Amino acid sequence: MSGRNELLQAAFERGCLSLGRDPSQTSMEELLRDLTDAKQRAQRHLDRNERLQANFYEHAPGGLIMVGADLRIRVLNSGVHAVLPVVPDPIGRLLSGGVPFKPLVEVILLAMERGARQTRECVAGRFDLLIRAEALEDGGAIAVIADVSSIQQAARARSDFVSNVSHELRTPVTSILGYSETLLAQPEGLDADTLLMLQAIDRNANRLTRIFDELLDLARIEARLQEMDLNEVDLRPMIQDLARTWSETADLRGIRLKVELPDLPMVARVHIQAFDRILGNLVANAIKYSPSKSEVGIRARMAGSRVVVEVEDQGPGINPAHQSRIFERFYRVDKGRSRDVGGTGLGLALVKHLCLATGAKVGVRSNPGHGATFSVRFPT
Ligand code: ADP
Repeated sequence: MSGRNELLQAAFERGCLSLGRDPSQTSMEELLRDLTDAKQRAQRHLDRNERLQANFYEHAPGGLIMVGADLRIRVLNSGVHAVLPVVPDPIGRLLSGGVPFKPLVEVILLAMERGARQTRECVAGRFDLLIRAEALEDGGAIAVIADVSSIQQAARARSDFVSNVSHELRTPVTSILGYSETLLAQPEGLDADTLLMLQAIDRNANRLTRIFDELLDLARIEARLQEMDLNEVDLRPMIQDLARTWSETADLRGIRLKVELPDLPMVARVHIQAFDRILGNLVANAIKYSPSKSEVGIRARMAGSRVVVEVEDQGPGINPAHQSRIFERFYRVDKGRSRDVGGTGLGLALVKHLCLATGAKVGVRSNPGHGATFSVRFPT
């Protein structure tokens, strides 16, 4: 009996302490009343927090969906309803049943599996969506869905405009080129000045044609009009072929092309024409920007699950301030130099977009004054 009283007394004192009351000045009734009040206040606080949270989810920009470790939907705001198919009363249902949209389910599963943020661009009906999914500490995941239709439309409009302009301008330039070539084919009756002017017209018309062609290619790749099917191939014979193709140009400039390949096959998943174009542009640049009597190296090696192909030159290199920008269209470190060596300023932009479209990744390292190394990582 006394044990029970002691327990009650201890509980009473703990209750008083939690409310900051003096046990000797407090009756049991007062304590019970105050504890009830405190509990009601805490509940109201919790309710308010829950309402705030629900409000936040509801008014978050875009769609927001949260699932538990059991893949059942815990939170789903009206932003999801606006862009994806959602069944009635989705809360508590399995994700695949509640929101039957495969790319969302896949990206959430991937985020949970890898414990890292995953991003996916996809199309749902008339919407272009960007989904970002992130794993949560309790084993569930959260996904934010952004409607990027207007951004994509603007990109498509820009791309369409560039390809229409390039197409329109290419036709008259082709005609100019035709006339200059015809005249240059019979230079006998031409005086020296006229010949020089004709050669300048021919050179510039050729340059314009290359710019229009590359702009059209870029627009096509950006719009993914070209099917970019990947094939598993041993990259070594392709690199050897490429080196053979460029050896004459290198010889003419007094540059030695050195190919270093391992004995084992280097199988990667590539789009064959895109691979030739990517590597061709990098080798062409290495030759273009190298001094004569120098060496351009082409190497391939395995790095984890990727095959890395590197093109190294002993040219002027690229200052770190320019390294991230040289992949932008028309960005040239030295415009005069690029023009002199026949550059268009579009080669590396093409390389970047071809890599993006075929799951490869391009990068550059350079110690200015000591050459540059461009590397491309191809998926296996
Ligand atoms: P371009 O037709 O002018 O060569 P690119 O897009 O191929 O255009 O390259 C963009 C710029 O990057 C070049 O103008 C040049 O300044 C720089 N660059 C590219 N490759 C090299 C290289 N191997 N060495 C030094 N600079 C380079």
